[in-house]
Amino acid sequence: MYQKIVTYGDSILRLPSQPLIITDHFDDLIQSLFDTLSQNRGIGLAAPQIGINQRAFIINTMLQAKDDSSVEKVQAAYINPEITWYNKKEHSFNEGCLSIPGIYENVVRPSSIHVRYLDASFNEVEETLYGIKARIFQHEYDHLEGILFVDHLHPLHKILIFHKLKKLQNNCNKHTK
Ligand code: ZN
Repeated sequence: MYQKIVTYGDSILRLPSQPLIITDHFDDLIQSLFDTLSQNRGIGLAAPQIGINQRAFIINTMLQAKDDSSVEKVQAAYINPEITWYNKKEHSFNEGCLSIPGIYENVVRPSSIHVRYLDASFNEVEETLYGIKARIFQHEYDHLEGILFVDHLHPLHKILIFHKLKKLQNNCNKHTK
């Protein structure tokens, strides 16, 4: 089911999320993340962005891969993820976030990572991620820690977008239960 996306300024985005305990509602949560992401034509969405502070996110690049064959096809859920290794080699990439509409900035992050997580069938998976998959994983993982991509910008750079952020904060979609 489609859910409203929580936007910049809502304290839900700043809370560290709790480990996800598998319950009957689990499938609904994952389905809501996929429905909400495709409705907004995004490539990744974390549970706190729909108002649920639990450690789960999804990646879905199928829409973008259809238009651009260089985009790796990924359609997966990541439950209780961990990043166990970061490559020292870093890479800059232009990021955006459905919770911070209208702002796109270059963010420097490790170019590859080792990760561990449960997949949608609760199988434990360990793998090394590269490219777009490593990038989206790190962005979404940050959401589970209450970190947003604008936090990674240089302070001088942040001053340049200060007014845009302030405006978003004032108009924020407060999550109401
Ligand atoms: Zn985001």
